Amino acid sequence: MVLQDLGRRINAAVNDLTRSATLDEKAFDGMVKEICNALVEADVNVKLVMNLRTSIKRAVNFKELAPGVNKKRIIQKAVFDHLVSLVNPHNSPYTPKKNKANTIMFVGLQGSGKTTTCTKLARYYQARGFKSCLVCADTFRAGAFDQLKQNATKAKIPYYGSLTQTDPVVVAREGVEKFRKERFEIIIVDTSGRHQQEESLFAEMVEIQQAVKPDQTIMVLDASIGQAAEAQSLAFKSTAAFGAIVITKTDGAAAGGGAISAVAATKTPIVFIGTGEHLLDLERFQPESFVSKLLGMGDMQGLVEHVQSLKLDQKDTMKHISEGVFTVRDLRDQLSNIMKMGPLSKMAGMIPGLSGMMGNMDDEDGAMKLKRMMYICDSMTVKELDSDGKMFVEQPTRMTRIARGSGTSVREVEELLAQQRMMAGMAKKMKGGMANMQKAQNAM
Ligand code: GDP
Repeated sequence: MVLQDLGRRINAAVNDLTRSATLDEKAFDGMVKEICNALVEADVNVKLVMNLRTSIKRAVNFKELAPGVNKKRIIQKAVFDHLVSLVNPHNSPYTPKKNKANTIMFVGLQGSGKTTTCTKLARYYQARGFKSCLVCADTFRAGAFDQLKQNATKAKIPYYGSLTQTDPVVVAREGVEKFRKERFEIIIVDTSGRHQQEESLFAEMVEIQQAVKPDQTIMVLDASIGQAAEAQSLAFKSTAAFGAIVITKTDGAAAGGGAISAVAATKTPIVFIGTGEHLLDLERFQPESFVSKLLGMGDMQGLVEHVQSLKLDQKDTMKHISEGVFTVRDLRDQLSNIMKMGPLSKMAGMIPGLSGMMGNMDDEDGAMKLKRMMYICDSMTVKELDSDGKMFVEQPTRMTRIARGSGTSVREVEELLAQQRMMAGMAKKMKGGMANMQKAQNAM
């Protein structure tokens, strides 16, 4: 089951229950059962699912709920919290530091997405102001260096490799030494994979590790292996100590939920997840953000962090949010930033409500939709853009004028204003700091 489908199914189960007229224990049990079935179908380990079931039931103890309490909120919060703990490794990964040669070594089986992820990660840090580079120590697979070269060139990342040297340890050592001398801050070493775990692969891994002394070793795992991720990561771990995991191909029809929860259960930090073949399809993994997005609740915190890290101009919106305000212009600025930031379907998932609005659109349709929203904003007067949106309710003819001016429909204008209202509501709740941000989201 694709992760998005899993999220939709869990969400539907919670919404059906909280909307139903009789919110009793029987209906609640039905919801928990549906969530558990969805998780098992996404290849999450049955034992983990059973634990989740028990904990949700314990957290929402129907018999002891005082009359008048907001059952809907309690149920939503319990489901959210327990899904977070299901995917939470409870262990922090290494954080690269500026003005230091942070060496990151990649290990994993062939085809897991190692080479692709190395380039994605180098680009990720490069966009965040780190001087990044790549070393290809995969001398086992013919064409590995060519592939890395192509990826690196596309991403404009300096690289090192050899077409003649057959000893991966020598290539790794030489490459890392050269880049350390040149004061690179992120040095990523791609090592070779094998079709399966073999003695020779493990021996090579250990040798390269000793030669380059990485600050972090990351293992790459393909999400489609589902629950088997646990056994694979343990097998690697018992040979070469590694610090963190990247799970790739979580966009596929694979059992991504199974892989993520299985790894989390081993308490190995998951640093990133791969969400597609494109260079930008790499997301930092944070349990709360991941579950928020899974459930279509958006990920305001992730969005703000992402935008900040990309050094886009955000000053006004950040100031507004800290004051509890979110104007139509803020929404316009966010939309325009989103269009600069990469695959739309992924970015839209971070804005509460927007992914729902975009439904099952592909990136092209999504881009069109966002463009139309921008046209709407661009047809507004300065006063309207800087307003809190109330003037449209007081004078609905403004919407007709804007729809005509932007070549869109009144309905689309209404939709945009509803989106802004929702974000303004969140900004209001978040006033007083980012710490309240997640609370505001959880309460939605
Ligand atoms: P390696 O043998 O481990 O170095 O694997 P590659 O980096 O060559 O990747 C194998 C295939 O997986 C390539 O076709 C990649 O484009 C693809 N791939 C890697 N990461 C992802 C991902 O997150 N999503 C999808 N859909 N494909 C990916």
